[in-house]
Amino acid sequence: MSGERILLVDDAREVRDFLADVVLRPAGYSVVTANDGETALRLAQERLPDLILSDMQMPGLTGLALHAALAAAGKRPPFILMSAESSKELSARALKAGVTAFLAKPVDADDVLAAIRQALAPPPAARSLGTATLMLEKKVRQLETLQAVGRTLTSSLDLDKVLSRVVEAAVSLTGAEEGSLLLLDEHTGELLMRAARNFDDQFVRTFRLRSEDSLAGQVIRTGQPVILGVDSPTKIKTAYLVHSLIYMPLRMHGRVLGVLGVDNRQQGGRTFTEADKAPLAVLADFAAVAIENAQAYSRSDAERAKLDAILQETEDGVVVVDDANRIVLINRAARAAFNLDGANVENQSLGNLVNNNDLRGLLAHVAVHTSRAELTLDDGRVLNAHLTPIAGIGRAVVMQDITHLKQLDRIKSDFVTTVSHDLRSPLTAILGYVELLARVGPLNDQQTDFVRRVRYSVNAITSLITDLLDLGRVEAGFDTQKEAVNLSLVVRYAVEGLSNRAEAKKQKLATKLPPTPPPVYGNPIRLRQVASNLLDNAIKYTPEGGAIMVMVQETEDQEILMVQDSGVGIALADQPYIFDKFYRAKGVPENVPGTGLGLSIVKSIVENHGGRIWVESKPGEGSLFTVVLPKYKPEESPVPAARAAKTTPF
Ligand code: ADP
Repeated sequence: MSGERILLVDDAREVRDFLADVVLRPAGYSVVTANDGETALRLAQERLPDLILSDMQMPGLTGLALHAALAAAGKRPPFILMSAESSKELSARALKAGVTAFLAKPVDADDVLAAIRQALAPPPAARSLGTATLMLEKKVRQLETLQAVGRTLTSSLDLDKVLSRVVEAAVSLTGAEEGSLLLLDEHTGELLMRAARNFDDQFVRTFRLRSEDSLAGQVIRTGQPVILGVDSPTKIKTAYLVHSLIYMPLRMHGRVLGVLGVDNRQQGGRTFTEADKAPLAVLADFAAVAIENAQAYSRSDAERAKLDAILQETEDGVVVVDDANRIVLINRAARAAFNLDGANVENQSLGNLVNNNDLRGLLAHVAVHTSRAELTLDDGRVLNAHLTPIAGIGRAVVMQDITHLKQLDRIKSDFVTTVSHDLRSPLTAILGYVELLARVGPLNDQQTDFVRRVRYSVNAITSLITDLLDLGRVEAGFDTQKEAVNLSLVVRYAVEGLSNRAEAKKQKLATKLPPTPPPVYGNPIRLRQVASNLLDNAIKYTPEGGAIMVMVQETEDQEILMVQDSGVGIALADQPYIFDKFYRAKGVPENVPGTGLGLSIVKSIVENHGGRIWVESKPGEGSLFTVVLPKYKPEESPVPAARAAKTTPF
């Protein structure tokens, strides 16, 4: 009983005094009295008593009328009606009207108290429902708090913030005075306070606990939580004195990283129960995940910084672009090569920033595999650039400075050109005298055979020298004379010049040449040489009875020449080198003559025309050489319009 307020209504003073002074007040209730129904109605509305104990027969308002008036006013406190008339009919009427209990007068003290207690006690169902609701509310609050900490965990990389939220939540969910998160320093074996709630700042900063002989250390060693003060609250020696405490281990991959703790120091403070362990265990898991995330992040950050340093400091230029050719990454060497030092280039189009046609040409090439090009820079340096597609990112261009190699190559070429030139005259003399031998006297069979062999060898050397001189001229860029050229016409002349050889090998030589394709801007003799060399190779490397097809096609701004054969093909390992000087693939049939210079000449000519060449081939199935040349654009080329219209026959 705890001082519930009772409004006692009775017109008989002795009944009022008896009930108030002898029964109700001694039982702990506070009592207000009224001697008629009207006063009672006013008091009931003003004071809102916990219970009304009222007589039935009173002048003015009866007990039942008082009950009805209160109900009409929306006030329904427990109402016990007393009446001298103990008829069944009245008690039934009263209970039907909603009166809580009916007592027949004269009333007995025990009956009155029993009726009051029962009227004030909530019905058992409501009582347990109330408890369940409270528990449910508590659980919901717990879940909301845990959810909020979980959100911080996923949305923040700030470890201090997450750990502070964990400790705050631990304190609020367990009703603790203090909370702390201790982490093990693996080097010293000490526990440091990484986050705290309601501890003095200075204390937190200087806190150091040896793990061997402390309670927290025991949790670290065993991996088991500790709860103290449940049965008989005692003062426990940790680093400070507490009344009740829970330490929960922070576990990750079988290791214990630290301890999440809550405690109450006050003797009168709350004593933790086993039920407090569950939310703390979840919070400890959150903290362990946050620490693991932070460690993983800092590890990957360190790795990234290392890779970044390597990439930035390497002597080779590296540029990575996305599929729209916007810069994703560019290192120091590449910035220096394209004069982009200090500029903010990330996400900008490489084509807009860098005015280098070689690079543009390389990027314009939509390659599935690696492709290669030489880039000449404004300062004359030459870079060997490899373009590699990177799935999901775009393309990477790696560039090495090969200027010194190019210089060596030039010196060597100059030397070869000079020597070749000087060899030509004596060779012409040898050939002339060999031809004369038969005229100055009869030769026997063996001598005739020797003469044939000498002539064959001199011819081979002569064609080698012709190729070398040719290459020297093309590389030196002597063929600057360019005009609008009908590619189909050029190719047709080349095909006509070699069709006898294809016939001799019973090969099917077909062409697909549009009669008047849009012209390309170039040197007709050199372009014919390109077609002739490619066709010559196709005939050479295709066995008897094979098929060869020569085609010219056009795209929006390019002319394409394709020479396809069903010949021996080229191994994948040889394909990157066949355009190099003197390179002949391993599987070339012995009896096929060649210098290994034809494709170098072709490549040089194509590049001099701003075009590109590549091969697709499968050993045993054949090869397809593709040459792409830019279309003639009068506004870009210094050719008079009248001349551009006519194409030169040769
Ligand atoms: P070569 O004088 O040896 O023909 P090229 O420079 O023209 O020199 O060609 C280089 C090498 O490329 C050849 O030796 C040959 O191995 C290979 N090659 C060129 N064209 C073809 C082709 N159509 N089919 C097969 N292999 C070819």
